[in-house]
Amino acid sequence: MAIEQTFSILKPDATARNLTGAINALIEQAGLRIVAQKRVRITREQAETFYAVHRERPFFGELVDFMISGPVVVQVLEGDNAIVRYRDIMGATDPAKAAPGTIRKVHAKSIGENSVHGSDAPDTAAKEIAQFFSDNEIVG
Ligand code: ATP
Ligand code: MG
Repeated sequence: MAIEQTFSILKPDATARNLTGAINALIEQAGLRIVAQKRVRITREQAETFYAVHRERPFFGELVDFMISGPVVVQVLEGDNAIVRYRDIMGATDPAKAAPGTIRKVHAKSIGENSVHGSDAPDTAAKEIAQFFSDNEIVG
């Protein structure tokens, strides 16, 4: 299996509840390595760029407002099949539908305030990592 990198965000609902360590523990227990990490407050422009694919969706404004409502932790995660594996560890978008033991089942508040983001494919992972990290900030 190929070693991959994926992009992760611990969202404002997670940082507000002091869950950075608890979520990082679930990530590391699942065998993914946190090879880059920083706590930042993203701008409205960064949030709109990041979620541009959802621009026409009814929840876009709410999503952008939420993502800039507090600090986030942006991360690069590395491991075998990391993109799909992290999506599995995160659980379904709606915590009510997420599998037991997943980050969203354990920690998410709602379909909007759902604690974590993870890239959905290799091309989006590369693009998202490049939006927030330079090469010398990623140390495997
Ligand atoms: P993410 O891209 O954040 O990893 P995802 O891939 O599981 O999540 P998407 O369909 O890409 O889900 O939606 C992006 C984000 O938009 C969701 O994580 C959630 O925060 C928000 N969102 C999605 N659907 C809704 C909804 N119906 N109402 C409110 N917010 C929503
Ligand atoms: Mg998505």
